Amino acid sequence: MHDVVVVGAGPAGLTAGMYCARGGKSTLILGNLYGSQQSMGGLYENYPGFPEGIQGIELSERMLAQAQKYGAEYKQEMVEKVVHLGDVFRIKTESWEYQARALILATGASHRKLGVPGEDRYITRGLSYCVYCDGALFRGRTTAIVGHGNGAARAALYLSGICNKVHLLCPKDRLVAEAVYLDRLKGTSNLSSTFGVEVTEITGDDFVGGVEYRVGSTPRSVKVDGVFVEMGVAPSVGLALDLGLEMTPGGFVRVNRLNQETSMAGIFAAGDATGGRMQVATAVGAGSSAAISAMQYLDRK
Ligand SMILES: Cc1cc2nc3c(=O)[nH]c(=O)nc-3n(C[C@H](O)[C@H](O)[C@H](O)COP(=O)(O)OP(=O)(O)OC[C@H]3O[C@@H](n4cnc5c(N)ncnc54)[C@H](O)[C@@H]3O)c2cc1C
Repeated sequence: MHDVVVVGAGPAGLTAGMYCARGGKSTLILGNLYGSQQSMGGLYENYPGFPEGIQGIELSERMLAQAQKYGAEYKQEMVEKVVHLGDVFRIKTESWEYQARALILATGASHRKLGVPGEDRYITRGLSYCVYCDGALFRGRTTAIVGHGNGAARAALYLSGICNKVHLLCPKDRLVAEAVYLDRLKGTSNLSSTFGVEVTEITGDDFVGGVEYRVGSTPRSVKVDGVFVEMGVAPSVGLALDLGLEMTPGGFVRVNRLNQETSMAGIFAAGDATGGRMQVATAVGAGSSAAISAMQYLDRK
């Protein structure tokens, strides 16, 4: 039996775990440290305290080390089910079962798929959702990025430094990204951008060979060795839905923004799963708030 189980090992969960452990509560953090958006996000330039920026993986490892320093346990296990039994939560993972008196949900978000033929077939065969994880495999080769936001802009900057040629296939009529990224993109000579794209299929043999798409009603295609999908993220809220927690109209876990309480006593939530600004800095803030509320809840009991 733990005082608190934190589900999620991104910045929200790791911060919540650190606060609870430091506050003297027996704390278990469950999730995949390296599967968080934070770990897969590459260089973070806007998280305070790191003027040169910090790689997401290093930030995750540092946050975990700080939580563990105060006694938090971490297990790289994904939670499959949570059952609410009176004042106790039973948490079933892929390999074990735990119990907790309070629960903090910090399950974040995961990539949106394109939903076109060939996408599933070529995952790990030239199609990826993480340039910082897989970009180096395409050094000196030709790649395509499908996306329209900050993620696509950063992917374009990163891949244009590695690849021979990068094709940006943008579904909107322009990139909607921070000015700092748009400025840097102006200096990339090996990047070609096409706007108003509707991708229709990822093609190839054993590995990705190309992308079929339409611009308006005109069918087009491009030959590439790899495809990176940067279509943004959707919240990971399966556990919250199973528990019957109240959700927002946008499909996020509804919380009281003053204390991160959900609609169920003893369950708190933080980070991207709850919507809002979806940044590391806001996830960290909400994680600390959820932890303080969880500790107050336990102390009242
Ligand atoms: C490519 C990219 C670039 C980004 N760039 C920036 C940036 O420059 N600045 C910025 O501030 N933000 C940036 N972000 C956004 C930022 O990374 C997220 O807002 C932040 O990581 C959200 O934190 P989180 O803890 O809510 O979720 P996440 O970081 O997504 O972590 C979620 C955690 O929950 C775990 N989890 C999910 N389901 C379960 C389950 N069933 N059981 C157990 N564990 C589970 C996952 O394994 C993971 O550990 C970027 C994101 C991406 C993808």
